[in-house]
Amino acid sequence: MDTPVQYVKGVGPARAEQLTQAGIRTVEDLLMYFPRRFNLRRQIQPISSLGWTNRGISDEGDEKLSCKSLITVAGTVQETRYQPYGSRPYFECSLDDGTGAVVVKWFHGGYLRDRIKRGVGLIVSGNVSVYKETFQFINPQFEILEDSRDVQQVNYDSDELLPVYPPCGKLPGGLIAKIIKRLLPEVPRLFPRWFDADYLRRRNLFDRPTAISAMHRPEDREAWKRARARLAYDEFLLMQLGIAIQRQRYVSRPAYPLPVSEEINRRIRARFPFELTAGQNRAIEDIAADLAQNHPMNRLLQGDVGSGKTVVALYTALVAVAHHKQAAIMAPTEILARQHFAKISQYLSGSRVRTALLIGATKPAERKEILQGLADGQIDIVVGTHALLSENVRFHCLAVTIVDEQHKFGVRQRSGFRAKGHAPHCLVMTATPIPRTLALTVFGDLQISIIDDLPPGRGRTETILKDKSCMDEVIEYVRSRLSEGQQAYFVTPLVSETSNSDLSSAQRTYERLTQRYFPNYTVGLVHGQMPADQQELIMSQFSSGKIQVLVASTVVEVGLDVPDANVMVILDADRFGLAQLHQLRGRIGRGKSDAVCILVASTKNPIAAERLKVLLETNDGFKIAREDLRLRGPGEFFGTKQHGLPELKIADLIDDADILMQARRDAFEIIRDDPDLSAPEHQQLRFEMLKTYGERIGLIQQG
Ligand code: ADP
Ligand code: MG
Repeated sequence: MDTPVQYVKGVGPARAEQLTQAGIRTVEDLLMYFPRRFNLRRQIQPISSLGWTNRGISDEGDEKLSCKSLITVAGTVQETRYQPYGSRPYFECSLDDGTGAVVVKWFHGGYLRDRIKRGVGLIVSGNVSVYKETFQFINPQFEILEDSRDVQQVNYDSDELLPVYPPCGKLPGGLIAKIIKRLLPEVPRLFPRWFDADYLRRRNLFDRPTAISAMHRPEDREAWKRARARLAYDEFLLMQLGIAIQRQRYVSRPAYPLPVSEEINRRIRARFPFELTAGQNRAIEDIAADLAQNHPMNRLLQGDVGSGKTVVALYTALVAVAHHKQAAIMAPTEILARQHFAKISQYLSGSRVRTALLIGATKPAERKEILQGLADGQIDIVVGTHALLSENVRFHCLAVTIVDEQHKFGVRQRSGFRAKGHAPHCLVMTATPIPRTLALTVFGDLQISIIDDLPPGRGRTETILKDKSCMDEVIEYVRSRLSEGQQAYFVTPLVSETSNSDLSSAQRTYERLTQRYFPNYTVGLVHGQMPADQQELIMSQFSSGKIQVLVASTVVEVGLDVPDANVMVILDADRFGLAQLHQLRGRIGRGKSDAVCILVASTKNPIAAERLKVLLETNDGFKIAREDLRLRGPGEFFGTKQHGLPELKIADLIDDADILMQARRDAFEIIRDDPDLSAPEHQQLRFEMLKTYGERIGLIQQG
């Protein structure tokens, strides 16, 4: 399998160069280069049976298998004719099979003159058209038989799926088909088996060599589907094995058990000036059960913006404090860290819990004091940014870490805390509702709790879609709300104008709003390219009401809790992902009065308009997320390249959800019984794992 392609029959150095450039280096790579679609070559039919129903190509694609149907006839060549003149010279012949005759024509077919002659046997496959009341094949696939009697010998008596490969550099797909076809008999010998027959039978899976062969030359559609399912299973299984190993490693470390007694529970709840919602209570129950274990919690808390995750985070941190241990809360930005700190300080005012804020901007003297306090246990809860992960931050006894990723998924920072001895219990929070299959992939090593309700007493948010041409109307509406003393956001996709883009930029929108539309109000501008302290200044002026209109790039989607801001205009809304728009509108409607979110987009594009409609129809974050995933695919879903999604060549996170679940169950079971895949029957899996994920996850280096 590791043999360089150069040594494959029919390849050679020049072709190998082309293949290598397309990433195909070895025999294995070549055999994993699958057809893009198939032609279904129908069994030979009598020429007399060609009819109107046979005309045209019927594309019988179902799901992932796209397949063109080809008509096949076989007969003896009668007349031939070459017409070399004109813009499209052609070669044609008539073909007779005893039941009737048909015309076969190849444009630019001069090279066929010497091969297709009167009396030769010929099989052609293609689609049939009608010209001057005769049926004809144009540029069909063909096979020449030296002797017309050989027609009887050809095995075209059943339908056959012919693979169509994408071209590879300068190598046409047809050539690749030939090279691969020659290699296929080797597949059973080359590809090792991963599982025993019993394992496969119970899951109704092909063995791997059979699957690889059937991906290229399936007997029928059913076989192709099963082949694909097996390879999707393999991809998911390797991925889930990696995840299971990671989880196993994390949770098998010792942790301080932090049982939540009645007394602790009562004392913590007394800090909140409200009853917790059902969703918050369920999440807290999950967390309390985890914390009681002597192995670390590793849990993801999902909940829409405003669902009250901070309260759950603080509850978790306070359980650690009740046991005289420390907790750390890490936010993705300084602004968010400050906000968390402010909110937490508010809930804790009058208590003896000692808190600190540690961010990049913390002054050296204060920093030194905080580091000292963390090291000797004088500080109970520290809130901060990535600064918390730096080398010189040492904890006395860190028992709980909370990572608020909001939706800013980056390279996962988990377990980066420097804790000695015991591993901290870890809670990751996100405001993006993540569809289940995606969560099992990106956060597959975490158990999941979901807050699916909002605290009571919130106003409703109505969402409206307006065409760009109605901007005057939108401005008029915003002005009327401002005159009632409310505040408004304008969100734009760009920070500043780029050349030849007609998208709205924050900068230009800001200028237009101050000068033209709202000269009597104070307009502020905030975007991610401004220094953090300046962003913060503007946001706090908006919070305090000094600024009435805030023009912002998407930095506002995280943080900012301004109850009086109940109008949001999102410009070029079609430029945002649905999940992101949902996040953005979560910024309004946080007070008691009703809110309005106006999506401004070019509604002339029907697909974009259709997509945005989902937001008008529902406020259910998970429903929106599923739709977003379906429309844009997993890579785009997170809107960042560093989302930690493994590359899947065959498997599909949406359509293959069942296969993913099966693979996940199997992987976790395998790792439960054989945590580092050292059993003899797992050596192949281990090898494949290392090959695919070894470097990335830094797995099992021994052996
Ligand atoms: P999230 O972090 O999930 O976006 P927060 O924790 O910031 O949400 O909570 C949003 C707002 O709702 C805060 O002002 C908070 O005080 C309030 N809140 C949280 N939980 C409740 C509750 N159970 N009842 C009433 N208000 C709540
Ligand atoms: Mg929050």
